[in-house]
Amino acid sequence: MPVQVTSEELFHMGFIESHQVNGPLKRIAQRLIRSGIIRSFNSRTRLFRLKQLENGDCVFLDSNRLCTIYENRPSICRGFPFNSVRPGFCPSQRRSAVQLAMQKASTETKNCKK
Ligand code: SF4
Repeated sequence: MPVQVTSEELFHMGFIESHQVNGPLKRIAQRLIRSGIIRSFNSRTRLFRLKQLENGDCVFLDSNRLCTIYENRPSICRGFPFNSVRPGFCPSQRRSAVQLAMQKASTETKNCKK
C-alpha cells in the first residue's frame, strides 16, 4: 500500500523541522530519498511517498509486522478501524498477509511444475 504524506506529517514523524513544513521541499525530498525514508516526491501536490521494500511493505514495518512509528504514523494510517484491527499493527498488514500467502502459493505451484 503506497503511503503518501504531507510535509506536516513528516514533521510529526520527526524527519523535518517545523520551519521546513511550508518551505521549498525539493531538497528535503532529495535528502529523504537518500536516507531511505521516502521513495518519491510530487512537487505539484507536495506529497511524499514513503519508501516501500521489495515485497511492498512500508519501510517502517518491522519483522513482527508492527509499525515502528506507530505513535507518529501518518493520517492515512490512522484510518483505524477501517484499515487496521489492532493497536500497533500496520493497516497494510492484512493485504501484506494476503500477498505473502499468494507468493507462497505461487512458489509452491512453480515447484510442483519442476
Ligand atoms: S502504519 Fe506504519 S508501517 Fe504501516 S504503512 Fe503506516 S507508517 Fe508504514
